[in-house]
Amino acid sequence: MKDIFSLPIAPSFSSELPADPLTTNVSRQVESSCFSFVKPISPARPELIHYSASLLKEWNVGIENKKEFTEVMSGNKSFLGFRPYAMCYGGHQFGQWAGQLGDGRAINIAELEVNNSLLKFQLKGAGPTPYSRRADGLAVLRSSIREYLCSEAMHNLRVPSTRALSLIKTGDMVPRDILYNGNVRAEPGAIVCRTAPSFIRFGNFEIFASRQDKKNLTNLVDYTIKHHFKELGSPSKTTYLSFFEEVVNRTLSLVIHWQRVGFVHGVMNTDNLSILGLTIDFGPYGWLEDYNPGWTPNTTDAQHRRYRFGNQPNVALWNLTQLANALYPLIDEAEPLENILTGFKVKYAHQSHSMMCNKIGLYSFDKVSDGLIYTLEENLRVSEMDMTIFFREISSFESFKWQDFKLILKQFSYMEESELISYFPKWKDWFKEYKKLVLTENIEKKSRLDKMKLTNPKYVLRNYMAQLAIEKAEIGDYSLVDELYTLLQNPYDEQPEFKKWYAKRPEWAKQKVGCSMLSCSS
Ligand code: AMP
Ligand code: MG
Repeated sequence: MKDIFSLPIAPSFSSELPADPLTTNVSRQVESSCFSFVKPISPARPELIHYSASLLKEWNVGIENKKEFTEVMSGNKSFLGFRPYAMCYGGHQFGQWAGQLGDGRAINIAELEVNNSLLKFQLKGAGPTPYSRRADGLAVLRSSIREYLCSEAMHNLRVPSTRALSLIKTGDMVPRDILYNGNVRAEPGAIVCRTAPSFIRFGNFEIFASRQDKKNLTNLVDYTIKHHFKELGSPSKTTYLSFFEEVVNRTLSLVIHWQRVGFVHGVMNTDNLSILGLTIDFGPYGWLEDYNPGWTPNTTDAQHRRYRFGNQPNVALWNLTQLANALYPLIDEAEPLENILTGFKVKYAHQSHSMMCNKIGLYSFDKVSDGLIYTLEENLRVSEMDMTIFFREISSFESFKWQDFKLILKQFSYMEESELISYFPKWKDWFKEYKKLVLTENIEKKSRLDKMKLTNPKYVLRNYMAQLAIEKAEIGDYSLVDELYTLLQNPYDEQPEFKKWYAKRPEWAKQKVGCSMLSCSS
């Protein structure tokens, strides 16, 4: 098998787009450039904690020399012939234009050709860049484990995502104030190497539009289309509009997937939305446990809950509107952009309906009323039902007896039974209608349930699970990182050997930092 380092280097972003002429690594505004060349720092004692064997398998490569792999993936040694760089972008944060942001703690260390396509490799936490503002450019083990495990889990859930290749502990300690309340603690530093066909975000376009730099805006749009949307054709107004429409469709599809698996991104700022429609930047994300559309794990957003589960579709549209504004100078006509944005709402309603029908195993979508779905969501919410387990349980529900359905409700609600029973009449009405529709569709039981099991994962990375892995890892025991990585390779499979993870959130995790409460950058 070939070694990973034998993959050919194929720079395009850094060879075709304008580079920052300054190479001093100090925090500053970088104008008229898409990126700045910058070197990663050298960690003291890098230690390889984990790597994604499944990614290597997909690429048909191996790691011949673990020491060298660790050196490169920690920034100590460079990919031969590649000059590392950080990208320039801006963004709307929590609804406000925040100006230049950029890769403050991410450094691209390679662009490689893999299986006839091009992939970018990026170290997260390898030191400051011109975009670090006042921060240190570093990442801690806690947040790196969360990114590493979750990006691979997302991929295995069939949710478009950036991938994670390796997780390295740097051997350096990093001061962090987890909840921004003055309690600083020294935490172990870490670096994740992540990979994607592109890390371009909505904010890469917004920064040029905000500076009225039409030349570089056009450069970047043309580059993006040429490399990532080439089926749309050569640059023209029509192609630019098709490009925007494609980004709208991909973002829409991404959010539908998030809603399907109960994922809350937590910081849907425009600098955290990928132009390819990938899940990117795993910060204070979380998974719905009790079905509460108003929930967000991000304590920074606790007051307005802008990025709560139920608001993700609206925010996606808001962010796409900012992207439309950024692309406007190239199109010069508002109406076609507005029409595409209007289409989002219609398509979302339609696709969301089909997705929810899939989750409950009803396939004649047009015969299922919006009311049935609405009532289901409302019942789940008021009765504080565990989202993942509820949908998985009904994916093996055979008897269709109310008594048995009631047992599921009792077992997997977070509510006291004495309170829960007051919602049974509502559930009973819903169940009656649901059962009628299933019987009318009359699909062979096994194929119906098998299909549901491919829509409704059995295992997701609940925050408390990641937190347990983090706490062990912080004392040098990586067994749980390994176990969760393995578990989440096959989230739709029964995996009886892992059934302890098919459980409601334990009581201790309800209010614990790291489980239900997380903050932005760490
Ligand atoms: P995030 O909230 O992680 O999406 O980060 C928003 C912006 O802050 C991005 O430009 C990041 O690169 C930057 N940033 C976050 N954490 C750090 C850090 N520790 N050092 C430097 N820049 C950071
Ligand atoms: Mg970010």
